[in-house]
Amino acid sequence: MTAPIRAPSPALLERFAAIVGARYAVTDAAGQAPYLVEPRGRYPGRTPMVLRPGTTEEVAAILKLANETLTPIVPQGGNTGLVGGQTPHETGNEIVLSLGRLDRIRAMDAGANTMTVEAGATLAKARAAAAEADRLFPLSLASEGTCQIGGNLATNAGGTAVLAYGTMRELTLGLEVVLASGEIWNGLRTLHKDNTGYDLRDVFVGSEGTLGVVTAAVLKLYPQPRGTAVVFAGLPDLGAVLRFLNEARGAAGRDLTAFEFMARIGLDFVLRHLPGARDPLASRHEWYVLAEISSLISEGDAHKRAESILAAAIADGIVSDAAIAASLAQARELWRLREALSEVQRHEGGSIKHDVSLPVARIADFIAEASAAALKVVPGARIVPFGHVGDGNVHFNVSQPVGADTSAFLSRWDEVNEAVHAVVARYGGSISGEHGIGRAKRHLLTAVKSPVEIALMRKLKAALDPNGILNPGKVL
Ligand code: ZN
Repeated sequence: MTAPIRAPSPALLERFAAIVGARYAVTDAAGQAPYLVEPRGRYPGRTPMVLRPGTTEEVAAILKLANETLTPIVPQGGNTGLVGGQTPHETGNEIVLSLGRLDRIRAMDAGANTMTVEAGATLAKARAAAAEADRLFPLSLASEGTCQIGGNLATNAGGTAVLAYGTMRELTLGLEVVLASGEIWNGLRTLHKDNTGYDLRDVFVGSEGTLGVVTAAVLKLYPQPRGTAVVFAGLPDLGAVLRFLNEARGAAGRDLTAFEFMARIGLDFVLRHLPGARDPLASRHEWYVLAEISSLISEGDAHKRAESILAAAIADGIVSDAAIAASLAQARELWRLREALSEVQRHEGGSIKHDVSLPVARIADFIAEASAAALKVVPGARIVPFGHVGDGNVHFNVSQPVGADTSAFLSRWDEVNEAVHAVVARYGGSISGEHGIGRAKRHLLTAVKSPVEIALMRKLKAALDPNGILNPGKVL
């Protein structure tokens, strides 16, 4: 598909601005800056205008005009995505459509365990609204204070609670979507069962703004746990990590609500760069697990179960040492160690990222083999694996050798990716566990999808966005 490349004329820009009002049509450099570059700074883009609509109808009017005039549109939520899916290209022809002002909780139905939330509400706001109604909205990400529900949907966000509750796709009942034509599809259904033909909702979830613009969603709510126990455990090897996962799952079932892992080097980075961070355990261990056990009964029940799971794992020689948070403050502190991991890596120089997913049982072998493959490309590089081991989702990051030149190291990005992704393919894994395709992994798609699958995706794109105005050059 050829993306339209015409730059919007000043007269056309005025028509776009008139839809939202001059105040919400951002053209000055300082005002635009936060919308133009993603968090890793790999794709600095340009735009003639950032539009900040306040209603679904305004979004519809923008897309209708864009479609008629072949103006490319880049939808954007909280701009926390890590694959460059939400920022404009360097050409300066694409208008950024920021959904941040559509941030209302439209409806809360605690009895039915649903809430209807607009796309621009932050994940933290949605979670807080649910908690106020004594319900849990389980999606949880380190960026939840900034990322938005629309972006969570567009990328089918994962995070730390997927183990028990699934990805954003599994947490969504209905959607409101503005199509490329400017038509509004009201699919805000609250039904748990609805077998009336093709599932349009699932077409838009994970489409990264290339098929339509999500403006609101009906989300599933769960009972608010009455207590949680947060465990931080040191383990001798990855085999032990996987055995601990199986034991904990066997004992806690769905109440095992998080199971995250990190290598010692990751904890070293955190202790070095996160203000106030302290090692929760007295001695060093090769691997660490942060696990959370929730209880619908009480805090005491959660702790009792966590203690018995730990006692069994220690008796079996799986866990070497462990701490259970004794207070909410301590639990937050343990989570802070895990959540800081992505951020602290940048203090250690360049870091080449991989967000991959694997059959859980093969993670240990994968990490060994992928580490060897990466070190062959850059000897002395430091491998920093961590992530959501319970889902098989590994953030396999490669930090530069100590003292190496950062830009020389980063120039090897594609080579390192290629070496690691070859191992992923051999293990039957995926090159994107949770971050999506965006710009960063677009060139890899044809290598990991069959021609039949790619052709189907292109047909869908052509059917829903025949003029190719929606997020051109992303995903496909
Ligand atoms: Zn993650």
